[in-house]
Amino acid sequence: MQIHCRPRALFLGLAIVLLNAAVHSQETSQSADANGRGAFSAAAVSVERPAADLAAMESDLIEPVEHNILHRPIELSAGLAHWVDRSYLYGSTQQGARPVHLGVEFVNPRNTPVYAAKAGVVVYAGADDDFLIGPQLDYYGRVVIVAHPFASLAGRQVFTLYGHLEHITVGVGQKVDDLSLLGQIGASGIAIGPHLHFEVRVGAPYDFRMTRNPELWLQHYVEHGMIIGRIRDLDGEPIYGKRISVRSDAVSREVYSYEGNVVNPDPVWDEDFTVGDLPPGDYQVVVLNDRGKIAFADTVAVAAYRTSFVDIVLADA
Ligand SMILES: [Zn+2]
Repeated sequence: MQIHCRPRALFLGLAIVLLNAAVHSQETSQSADANGRGAFSAAAVSVERPAADLAAMESDLIEPVEHNILHRPIELSAGLAHWVDRSYLYGSTQQGARPVHLGVEFVNPRNTPVYAAKAGVVVYAGADDDFLIGPQLDYYGRVVIVAHPFASLAGRQVFTLYGHLEHITVGVGQKVDDLSLLGQIGASGIAIGPHLHFEVRVGAPYDFRMTRNPELWLQHYVEHGMIIGRIRDLDGEPIYGKRISVRSDAVSREVYSYEGNVVNPDPVWDEDFTVGDLPPGDYQVVVLNDRGKIAFADTVAVAAYRTSFVDIVLADA
């Protein structure tokens, strides 16, 4: 994790080691069924057969790693979208039009190759029409899940999921390297047009309540950085679905904070929104209240390969 010089972020960075024990217990409680963050209907989840022998895998040495280490699963070539689609970010709903998004999209033509974001072992490869790994059966269509030999800073194993594939070119138990071919983009499962749905899950590969924001795990784009932040009320409670404007001389983005608690903030960052793939520069971060008046405004500096943190507290949302 790389931290720009916002005071709160600096404190967070220094405190990471000290927080590890507390974070671990927080994540442990999250893995239980519908308690707080990650709460879908627990009754909808009935995982009966594991798709691979996870117990054997977990006996391997698993080292905690920093964020921003995953490769983009789409080739970095002209003509392909290797940017995260900005219209349907993690935790967003397209202003209520779609379910809360458990991952991010890479919108590309059918049969675009999809690559492993990091080396690991395939623990699921096939359709999800008789094995529940999403909010309902046949959600991801043809899907691959890769278990990686590293863990979050809180000590829990990291998995990546690749959904809506047209073809799958790997099998369960197969070892893959960084950027090994996994399959091709399609629109299988519940998908509006061909695209890759990409997720990061921590601690439990088949449990859709255990996602994290992939933008925190993907490497910074070449010469780019990102802004992440919290948006809370005076009691420290997250303000869900709030629009946040992020602008520089060259860039204008509108993002929404996570729409409720079916997605999970990272236990280290405790973020409510992310704005990825930003060119370096000074950005005005502005939030309006419900009457259209400025409720928060601040300038945040973005540097290449750095994450800048902004802490937004609204007295009047
Ligand atoms: Zn998606």
